[in-house]
Amino acid sequence: MFIVLLGAPGSGKGTVGEIIAKDLKLAHISTGDLFRENLKNKTELGKKAQEYMDNGELVPDEITIGMLSDRLKSDDVINGAVLDGFPRTKAQAISLDEMLNKIDAKVDMALNIDVPFDEIVERIANRRSCMGCNEIYNIVFNPPKIEGICDKCGAQLYQREDQKPEVVQNRLEVYSRTAEELIEYYKKANTLITKKAGDKVGKTSYDVAREVEELVNNK
Ligand code: AMP
Repeated sequence: MFIVLLGAPGSGKGTVGEIIAKDLKLAHISTGDLFRENLKNKTELGKKAQEYMDNGELVPDEITIGMLSDRLKSDDVINGAVLDGFPRTKAQAISLDEMLNKIDAKVDMALNIDVPFDEIVERIANRRSCMGCNEIYNIVFNPPKIEGICDKCGAQLYQREDQKPEVVQNRLEVYSRTAEELIEYYKKANTLITKKAGDKVGKTSYDVAREVEELVNNK
């Protein structure tokens, strides 16, 4: 089974993705994490992606699609995957369908997590990431037990360059420009599910994950 997570940066895609991937025994593939790994390891791909990422712009499709295509060939994708942050353009969505078609699979569900932008801006400002294992914390709602230290692996937490306010604004603008065509794409394919979440509707990422799992298990 392949599940695609749509939703703005900061909508909780990472948390939802991690939970459902673990519970449904699917690989969790985050293109943002893959790019950050490449940056950290100073690979050629990382060097090509850096400038786009630092500015909150999308990395060009040919780089991103190639990277995802390689990742889909890993052994852990045997049962399928939760794709977090891919596709972000219609061209990526079309390529994904083609890649999955080759392995007799398809996108079974496109989950759009809909959180109001004002809540998202605040969430991202409070967000800290682990240098070691990429775990994400919210310093107000989900702080680590020891300030600045990851509960899971003990590494230091930091604020990503692209979580700083100026870049966040640009990431949200980029998202707004491209979201509609993806939502339309998956609506037409009859795989789109939209879940409103956030403080105002009283629904957390954990609630969304539980609802998705129920949907999958009752199919
Ligand atoms: P994320 O952690 O998913 O918000 O991704 C961080 C950054 O990685 C984005 O702002 C983009 O620069 C880049 N990125 C991640 N996924 C994609 C994608 N599917 N297409 C293009 N760029 C991406």
